[in-house]
Amino acid sequence: MEKTSKNTFYITTPIYYVNDIPHIGHAYTTIIADALSRYKKLAGYDVFFLTGTDEHGQKVEKSAAEKGLKPIELADKVVGRFKNLWQALNISYDGFIRTTATRHEQGVQKIFKILLDKGDIYKGLYEGWYCVSCENFLPEDVREDDQGRKFCPDCEKEAGIVSEKTYFFRLSAYQKPLLDFYKKYPKFVRPKSRMNEVVSFVRQGLKDLSITRTTVRWGIPVPGDPEHTIYVWFDALHNYLTGIGYDLDKKTFERYWPADIHLIGKDILRFHAVFWPAFLMAAGFPLPGTILGHGWWLKDESKMSKSRGNVLDPHVILDTLGPDPLRYFLLREIPIGLDGNFSHEGFLHRVNSDLANDLGNLVQRTLTMISKYFGGLLGDVAPENESDGHLREEFERKKKTVLGYYDDYALNKVLEEMWTYINSVNRYLADNEPWKVAKDPEQKHRLSRILYQSAAAIRTIAVLLYPIMPDSMNKVWDLVGEEGSIGEQRLANLHFEDLPADRSIKKPSALFPRVDLKDFLEEKKAEAAPKIQAVKEDKMEQITFDEFKKMDLRVAEILKAEKVEGTDKLLKLEVDIGTEKRQLVAGVADVYTPEDLVGKKLIVIVNLQPAVIRGVESRGMLLAAEIDNKAVIPFFGPDVPAGAKVK
Ligand SMILES: [Zn+2]
Repeated sequence: MEKTSKNTFYITTPIYYVNDIPHIGHAYTTIIADALSRYKKLAGYDVFFLTGTDEHGQKVEKSAAEKGLKPIELADKVVGRFKNLWQALNISYDGFIRTTATRHEQGVQKIFKILLDKGDIYKGLYEGWYCVSCENFLPEDVREDDQGRKFCPDCEKEAGIVSEKTYFFRLSAYQKPLLDFYKKYPKFVRPKSRMNEVVSFVRQGLKDLSITRTTVRWGIPVPGDPEHTIYVWFDALHNYLTGIGYDLDKKTFERYWPADIHLIGKDILRFHAVFWPAFLMAAGFPLPGTILGHGWWLKDESKMSKSRGNVLDPHVILDTLGPDPLRYFLLREIPIGLDGNFSHEGFLHRVNSDLANDLGNLVQRTLTMISKYFGGLLGDVAPENESDGHLREEFERKKKTVLGYYDDYALNKVLEEMWTYINSVNRYLADNEPWKVAKDPEQKHRLSRILYQSAAAIRTIAVLLYPIMPDSMNKVWDLVGEEGSIGEQRLANLHFEDLPADRSIKKPSALFPRVDLKDFLEEKKAEAAPKIQAVKEDKMEQITFDEFKKMDLRVAEILKAEKVEGTDKLLKLEVDIGTEKRQLVAGVADVYTPEDLVGKKLIVIVNLQPAVIRGVESRGMLLAAEIDNKAVIPFFGPDVPAGAKVK
């Protein structure tokens, strides 16, 4: 699609679901968006990079209840974790949208109302397979078994057919407009194979889409009919509008909409390539430029997901190595669109061979020689000979190719091409042997030229790699005597000979230290596994059921909580155990504040012999897991009454 202003670039990540835990997969998507956004800024565009979180829906409601939290409290916590990860990965977004923000909720309601008035949303009866246990309609693609039954994909229980009033979006009316649109813009979905998938899906015919639920409370109410909440997908997709000020900040909204790239994982292709453009057409918005679908990072050949329990926590790597090795690896290893298999061995091999050897050594050697032979100041350089000229010309060619790849979002090709350039500079040094030239005082200007060519090349490498490794390339920028951040530079002004020969060059410090695989994996293992104080089974005596029955375990509600004075770890609690109120002392103050606990329900052993702890009487004990010497208390949801027996 054409934009009115040619100089803006609006890129989005999907908004991440707060029922998830942030992992390498989220990191990957967001790193791609960050690299493209930084590149476009260097290329002189006025960029807006939006990310955020998807916070409504039944699953969030349910997990929050399981943790004894309100849905918004769970969302706040997870938002914090995502933001921490973006900071650790050096992600520089321009906007962060949460679907629970008023500006978003009001925007979605407004669009809902527009479509309702227009007749593209209408009220009808939805009949479908429904899982009573999950309180949810089954997805369309769940198949009947040979006895005509369907089973819930989440809990595997048998589903029944249920009908309920719902609002439909008239998707069927958009089959032809969508097919016409795909024909006119065949690059709307990339890679091309995914475009073909979408076209054949739409050709098969489109059914109207149920976009509200009466069974979900944690959602945006339908305007004028609050029995219904808006289905999370209809709600979530509109973040791309509300995140840049739809209906509130007309100027910003019109400056950036339509989006240039919606970056997505292939599992949400249909929502973005079929439903989203149909919603936008219905409401009269221009359509986005490109839906860029990337592949998945697999671990042990399967998709990482919370439910499979095979997610990789990027913090383990980030704490040890900083953001750039991971940013480099994820973008280098696979083309956008294909799946990759993550292994620590593969990762460390790239860190050591590409970053520490090829690039790190080049910078190290060059700057060390400039410092050693010239005290950091090259001064007069001999005129270029043929080999010097070739290196400079190679930069001009590489710059063109690399920018072409960036423009084509082919970040793995950018890196492949950059490494051929880095290797050329390494070869140039090997051919010209500055360490030998240095032995002949007559050749001082020649030596100065060789090191100048190498330093000038390093300076250009820093700029071209900056979108992918901003942190370490800014360090190189500083080492070659430049000021500020590369982010303030413009690619159009990047020339090989911009490095003045009388510039003072700094002594290098190791950019990418080599990592020993064995040490790294051992450290990683030690950090990843919390030191669980597991009791060895063979040391525990077996007890009879009658002995177990002697324990009076009950659900208790915490009424009051305060710190025991003069201690760091102890809280004095007043709890309701159903039949009476009790006072207990618990060693959990290092993990939970009194505010955390009041109103919470947990398990207490009621008939334990009373004890006096630090002068305070304790009649009973709460149950908690011990992880890393810290208590983790299991809480019940609101519908479990105090006094309920636990057995
Ligand atoms: Zn179910």
